[in-house]
Amino acid sequence: MSAAPKPVERNQIIAPGAVIGILGGGQLGRMTAMAAARLGYRVHTFCPDRNSPASHVSWHNTVAAYDNKAALKAFAESVDVVTFEFENIPSATTEFLAELKPTRPKPNVLYVTQERLREKRFLASINVPTTRFLDVARQEALESAVKALGRPAILKSAEFGYDGKGQVRIDGDMDLFEAWVKMGGEVGILEAYVDFVREISVIVARGPDGTTAIYQPVENQHKHHILDVTIVPARISQSVTSRAEAIARHIAQEIGLVGLLAVEMFVTHNDEVLVNELAPRPHNSGHWTIDGCVTSQFEQFVRAVCGLPLGSTEAHSDAVMKNLIGEEANAWRELLNDPGVKLHLYGKTEARPGRKMGHYTRLSPKSGHRNGDDRR
Ligand code: AMP
Repeated sequence: MSAAPKPVERNQIIAPGAVIGILGGGQLGRMTAMAAARLGYRVHTFCPDRNSPASHVSWHNTVAAYDNKAALKAFAESVDVVTFEFENIPSATTEFLAELKPTRPKPNVLYVTQERLREKRFLASINVPTTRFLDVARQEALESAVKALGRPAILKSAEFGYDGKGQVRIDGDMDLFEAWVKMGGEVGILEAYVDFVREISVIVARGPDGTTAIYQPVENQHKHHILDVTIVPARISQSVTSRAEAIARHIAQEIGLVGLLAVEMFVTHNDEVLVNELAPRPHNSGHWTIDGCVTSQFEQFVRAVCGLPLGSTEAHSDAVMKNLIGEEANAWRELLNDPGVKLHLYGKTEARPGRKMGHYTRLSPKSGHRNGDDRR
């Protein structure tokens, strides 16, 4: 159970019929807009790119840079609440908007989670176990950091990293100058390599009154550092499940989340649970919830941000979600011919390598009863 919820104050509720402003225009915004429409909301996206996946299904789109104050002001005036669908938005943008309209999650959540060092330090400050890490402020500091953590280690750019971008594995013979150049960031974070058994993630929603609802842990398999497959339920013990869920709830509460938070974790050989990364928004590993749960992560996101009652996170099926990366999406005809497949395409025209073009979910009868909804 979460702490006794405070009643949602009237002014915290953004009722159906209102306009939700979303910063970012990718597939997460697209699927959020579709869920929002089902609940009677309209979505206004703000994104620097024309023809974004979210723009195809939104009521209104602003195409402008994230530091264009005039465009941000007009955007704020036309919406009732502001949220975001990815982390690489300047936190100054959300701070500016928060002065004008309710912004959920609050700007500080974005600030903490958009930089890996800041995120890991925050996690350490609230006693959440993470991978061992060292700050590598400049190239010269890399050698001593590698000595301290040992090889293999992973050098990551502290800022603007996702899907393995800005990440280099430093193996036995890797030249450190080459690793630094490959990483490409100005500031690095060196992480000890975790020889994990499984990668899992937990998605938790939290409303303005502090109520939480949590989805069961799922198992993630990556290819070239990009999520390839999500397996539901994760093949982990009940004790790992409970600890993973407790960690996710604790982080959501301590960071003061209103919205959705995905917590990516490693499970080690001796069943330790280490947090790898946070994402304060819908997450790729939650796409299965559209087809497998009473309430999808996207609807839950809308409910949390708008101060509505959170929905049931009950799964009615087990599921496997497969991402369609680059040309994999060209198999849409075969996939549509497969009666067990639920296909989702994001409307992206150019199938560049590494680009997420769509996903599909395959459901199967549920193996065991579980209810992650903590409201009852
Ligand atoms: P990230 O961008 O931090 O989510 O990393 C992408 C993927 O790289 C992860 O999902 C893991 O598969 C792998 N990875 C990242 N950090 C580590 C680490 N410290 N040890 C082992 N594998 C890692």
